[in-house]
Amino acid sequence: CGIVAYVGHREASPIIIKGLKRLEYRGYDSAGIALMNGKLNIYKKKGKVAELEAFIATQDTHSSIGMGHTRWATHGEPNDENAHPHYSTSGNIAIIHNGIIENYASLKKLLMEKGHTFKSETDSEVFINLIEDIRTNNNCTLPEAVRLAMHEVVGAYAIVVLSQDSPNQLIAARKGSPLVVGIGEGEYFLASDATPIIEYTNEVVYLNDFELAIINNGQLDIRTKEDVQQTPYVQKLEMEL
Ligand code: GLU
Repeated sequence: CGIVAYVGHREASPIIIKGLKRLEYRGYDSAGIALMNGKLNIYKKKGKVAELEAFIATQDTHSSIGMGHTRWATHGEPNDENAHPHYSTSGNIAIIHNGIIENYASLKKLLMEKGHTFKSETDSEVFINLIEDIRTNNNCTLPEAVRLAMHEVVGAYAIVVLSQDSPNQLIAARKGSPLVVGIGEGEYFLASDATPIIEYTNEVVYLNDFELAIINNGQLDIRTKEDVQQTPYVQKLEMEL
């Protein structure tokens, strides 16, 4: 339902938690966050963002990259396991997802036959395992695997993918569900709408359907699922805080 991600020079978790609170108006049943603190760590809970905030207050959340999600359950009841983010089977990559993957059942069956394991009932966990499977089979980069996965999934999505092996990289993609990139000074934001971003920067790029955004080492690269590089159309927002 709601997406916020950050990479830059600040602490990611307070920015993400505040952003998730700004998206609370969308409605949700669970909340979670992934951070890179030595390893890729996920903290998630059924309930309010304030409960997630209290939970991570007892943890070492030091990280300058991360992604957070508020879930409005469509596949699987609201509980801690079904909350986002979701790890892939290897635990090396993680996803947050808004929307519905319509062909998740057939993809899940194929992936289980190939040895992937699932901890949740969500369509979203299928998406991240599909990405992992494509990466392994094609021996390609993670952005390339995300791009190729966009050709396999049917449905609506806004996703963000984070990898343990690339601690300065966020990969985002969309089809049918909105996703905005905020461009700051040496920092980037991703969100379902501009409300979590506007207090940090007024420069945004709205992703189009079937585009992916690769933010790596301070560079933004936007390309289509056909791998055609796009010139980002940067808009200046004028919004009241
Ligand atoms: N379909 C996903 C789920 O049930 C995402 C729902 C959402 O957009 O929050 O977990």
